[in-house]
Amino acid sequence: MYDVIVIGAGAAGLMAAATAARNGHSVLLMEKMEKAGRKIRISGKGRCNLTNARPPEEFREAIRTNADFFDVAFAEFNNKATIRYFERIGVKLDIERGQRVFPRSGKAWDIANALVEQCEEFGVKIEYNARVSDILTLDGKVYGVKYFNKRGFERKEEAENVIIATGGVSYPGTGSTGDGYLFADRVGHTIEEVRPSLTPLRTSHPQRKFLDGLLLKNINAKLFVENELVSEEFGELSFSDRGIEGAVALRLSRDAVDALIEDKRVKMVIDLKPALTEEILTERIKREIEEMQPDEFFSELLRKLVPKHFVLPIAHELDIHSKNYIRKVTDAEIARLVKVLKGLVFPITDYAPFPFAVVTAGGVKCDEVNKYTMESLKVKGLYFAGEVLDLDANTGGYNLQIAFSTGRLAGQLKK
Ligand SMILES: Cc1cc2nc3c(=O)[nH]c(=O)nc-3n(C[C@H](O)[C@H](O)[C@H](O)COP(=O)(O)OP(=O)(O)OC[C@H]3O[C@@H](n4cnc5c(N)ncnc54)[C@H](O)[C@@H]3O)c2cc1C
Repeated sequence: MYDVIVIGAGAAGLMAAATAARNGHSVLLMEKMEKAGRKIRISGKGRCNLTNARPPEEFREAIRTNADFFDVAFAEFNNKATIRYFERIGVKLDIERGQRVFPRSGKAWDIANALVEQCEEFGVKIEYNARVSDILTLDGKVYGVKYFNKRGFERKEEAENVIIATGGVSYPGTGSTGDGYLFADRVGHTIEEVRPSLTPLRTSHPQRKFLDGLLLKNINAKLFVENELVSEEFGELSFSDRGIEGAVALRLSRDAVDALIEDKRVKMVIDLKPALTEEILTERIKREIEEMQPDEFFSELLRKLVPKHFVLPIAHELDIHSKNYIRKVTDAEIARLVKVLKGLVFPITDYAPFPFAVVTAGGVKCDEVNKYTMESLKVKGLYFAGEVLDLDANTGGYNLQIAFSTGRLAGQLKK
């Protein structure tokens, strides 16, 4: 009989288990994979952007769902506390562009290993290859879990408290397959519809194949739903066989996915020259033309203005043959070129599914959880932490902070 069973050794579960054990509880941490923190280990392209050092008001703007609910956990263990925590346990950190915080070593493994070491130091028993199949309740109180051990036998383990930290359903290869939603649903919790977030967006643009592998920096992108501007982002965008991605597209994806689910018309409009007004860009193009030989091609002008992947799509968009002589380009065509460079339209027709989504939006309804303790308002002794809750945020270290803050709070249960 343990004081606490934590289900899932991800960012939230590791933090919850270490906190509870440090407070004197006997803790069993059950993880269905053979290793802890698989998602942490691949986060931030293997470098783990573990939090963001922005001041509280700016941090809060990045929380997309239930920011009010999250406020309490954040006040208890905020981004500054996270930075102090990891530095105190021996992980040196650096703050990079956009106030994003990374381990100085550049290795996400250091974050996962440091959390596992904390658990071990405070005596958490970690059971790997242990897949929890259900939670056990009696008269509105939790008393343990059922699970399959590494040999595939179903077993029971009892505890006064159970913390569900099973994550969402994105990147299921890391172990997050949505089991926590089933456990919560079975004991009467509401699950807000889950959907991919921070996920590549798919376009029906006829020239999209030419753009694979292209990375654009310092561009501005606007997202329109039913021709109304809903969000705008500045930064990097890239194209791959998964769709349009990069920080800008991923951030826009939150609104795009919701709109597509509702069958609304969605488009992304990219300004390739956000630093230049239409007038200045027109002057620049005219100057480029003056400096060119009259028998050079239109494609050579485009090559001076955009990455080569874009030459054919833009010529196509303008309906001007790329082999047209530059001397034949008219003022009206220059004006159209300026419009396209400052507003290239990509109809968004779909989004990449959960295996490609950085986070899961939706999850256990926050109204049914005590925001001061993370305890269920339906079952005594049952707690939630991390992405399993209906909490999600932008890219930039905010999602791991959600896991750390809620994990910390859930782990502070009373003795
Ligand atoms: C590719 C990628 C990169 C990312 N990069 C960043 C980043 O740089 N910064 C950032 O802030 N966020 C990032 N995120 C998001 C962030 O990693 C997650 O939001 C965060 O890890 C969620 O933590 P969690 O503990 O709630 O869930 P998870 O990390 O998903 O952990 C859940 C754990 O529960 C276990 N589990 C599930 N079901 C069971 C069961 N039935 N029995 C036992 N164990 C079970 C799983 O195996 C898993 O170990 C990234 C996500 C991805 C996919």
